Amino acid sequence: MSLLDLSTATSPDHWRYLAEGGDTIVYSYIGPPDERFLDKVLRVRKDRPEKTEDEDITVSFHTEIIPRLVPHDYLVDIETISLRRSWLETLYALSVHSRPAWRTDSIDFSRTSALLVPNLVSSPISIEIKPKWSFIKDGTAHTCRFCMHASCRGWSTTYCPLDLFSNSPVRVKKALYALYDFWADTATQNNLRLFAGGNVVSSGNLLSTFQQLGILQSSIPEEELRDLVVETLHASLVQTKASSLLKILNRLQRTLGGIGIEGLASLWNDGVCSPRLTTGILSLLSIKASTHHKSNRPQSQNGGQKKLQYHILSYLLSATFKDCSIMIMLPGLLNQNIPASSFPSRIVLVDLGPKPVRRLQKWLDQDRDIMQGYAELVGKKETEKKECVDDWCISK
Ligand SMILES: [Zn+2]
Repeated sequence: MSLLDLSTATSPDHWRYLAEGGDTIVYSYIGPPDERFLDKVLRVRKDRPEKTEDEDITVSFHTEIIPRLVPHDYLVDIETISLRRSWLETLYALSVHSRPAWRTDSIDFSRTSALLVPNLVSSPISIEIKPKWSFIKDGTAHTCRFCMHASCRGWSTTYCPLDLFSNSPVRVKKALYALYDFWADTATQNNLRLFAGGNVVSSGNLLSTFQQLGILQSSIPEEELRDLVVETLHASLVQTKASSLLKILNRLQRTLGGIGIEGLASLWNDGVCSPRLTTGILSLLSIKASTHHKSNRPQSQNGGQKKLQYHILSYLLSATFKDCSIMIMLPGLLNQNIPASSFPSRIVLVDLGPKPVRRLQKWLDQDRDIMQGYAELVGKKETEKKECVDDWCISK
């Protein structure tokens, strides 16, 4: 099937810089009315020193693997389109001034394809939350990975993912306040991003943006605005549809994580690794995904190689879910005119790309650094040992 050529169908100035993450820059369509691009955004790969997977693998991962694990309602459809280099260069040149100053990387101009996906920020308000690890690993003390990481990095936040994923509305609200405050205090922190009227909004511009867009009619004190945003998010996340998604994400992170990165390292060190592990990963993932929930663990007679493959693939899948984001689309702010039952308009998982096997060593190093760094901080009494509460049972 031939791909739609965006270079001939649209001009680079029909696309406006919207946002970016570590791997992609996202553009929204602002050209003449065209139903092919209505409410769509273009995701273009950045030029990374560590090359990410091909787009077709990403698309296959999205269309063949992820839907076996996550219900379709919580996913977005993606389409691969083709591009010409000169078109891409003009697009990038037009958008350079819109990027945050600290972003110094560029688009990968060697790519001839990109992804067209629904514009998830076309709602009056859209909020993206990157929740991170929602459980405590076996064998670690009572502190979750995010809280240990935050202490080691000196982040000033009280956010704990286990609060967000808890069954307690009070704890969910605590997590949302912490996410909001972390976002409001830290310009480069990305556990929460807020979009209004199609654009990313900073806390400093929040009130004026809401007023310009007619989302808020009058000025309100900063504290009241904070309460209103958190109450709106809270009303959205305690709805059945949203809480079901949190449960699914939590279960996937836990169950697919399996023996953990340290467990993988010990298998690896047993000498059962092989370069073959890096090939055919998609087909293996496919087998894995089709059998994951009730799958039997590999039989020991299959040998160490198969066992290692099983655990690596499972871990790579869990890594995708540990790093993904939840996009919550809202009809506005909670008030008498919009009943709580209308929130959220939609909730989906995004950033569900496949993780390359070569990152395993980096994750192992990072995990050890965090564990060791946190133990030292606690040992020197530079931080109080945090007790995170993991109250979700896998069987739920
Ligand atoms: Zn925690």
